[in-house]
Amino acid sequence: MQLTPDNLTQLDFDKSPLIPAIVQDALTGVVLMQGFMNSEAIAVTFAKGLVTFYSRSKQRLWTKGESSENYLQLVSAHTDCDQDAILVLAIPKGPTCHLGTSSCFGDAAPELAFLGDLERVIASRRFADPDTSYTASLFAKDLSRSCQKVGEEGVEVALAAMKNDKNELLNESADLLYHLSVLLQRCDLELSEVVKVLKERHK
Ligand code: AMP
Ligand code: ZN
Ligand code: ZN
Ligand code: ZN
Repeated sequence: MQLTPDNLTQLDFDKSPLIPAIVQDALTGVVLMQGFMNSEAIAVTFAKGLVTFYSRSKQRLWTKGESSENYLQLVSAHTDCDQDAILVLAIPKGPTCHLGTSSCFGDAAPELAFLGDLERVIASRRFADPDTSYTASLFAKDLSRSCQKVGEEGVEVALAAMKNDKNELLNESADLLYHLSVLLQRCDLELSEVVKVLKERHK
């Protein structure tokens, strides 16, 4: 069930006033951290649009990012089947773990999640120095260069498959995905929007 500010009483606070909350990256699905929420923390999470926990060590409400500014911007919150756990989807504004990693669970992320990470890295290079970043140098050229690249890499993928060269097919596919990500971004689109189209077709 999706949680809203109006249905919070559905949560099972009788079992415990502190409900475990798992935060997942809304784009990649990577599990970022786990904390506890009481009813006030959930209300503040909705009011601020920033994920807020009840910290057992601080013994007070704690908005993640309150000092580091590595906030978790709320996208949506959901309960499990028996309303005693919360799944929060959020967009991280920086590394979530205080040790500096994006997830408190280290690099235990599903392989495909990296496509979302790569897209963020590409976005961060948009206005970087073209002399030190290949991605920035692509952004500095005409859009037609990115269009040409996607075309070329697509042909290279096809040729590698025709030759039955698996290693070349993997490398050319990586080139294609990279240049496709850059091209989409230059057209103000995201990979997640492509995925939405695929999901829509599947219905
Ligand atoms: P922050 O909320 O990011 O401003 O961090 C404030 C303090 O909360 C840090 O100094 C840590 O003690 C603690 N902290 C930050 N992030 C985490 C986390 N993901 N898990 C546990 N404790 C954290
Ligand atoms: Zn449960
Ligand atoms: Zn951590
Ligand atoms: Zn290539």
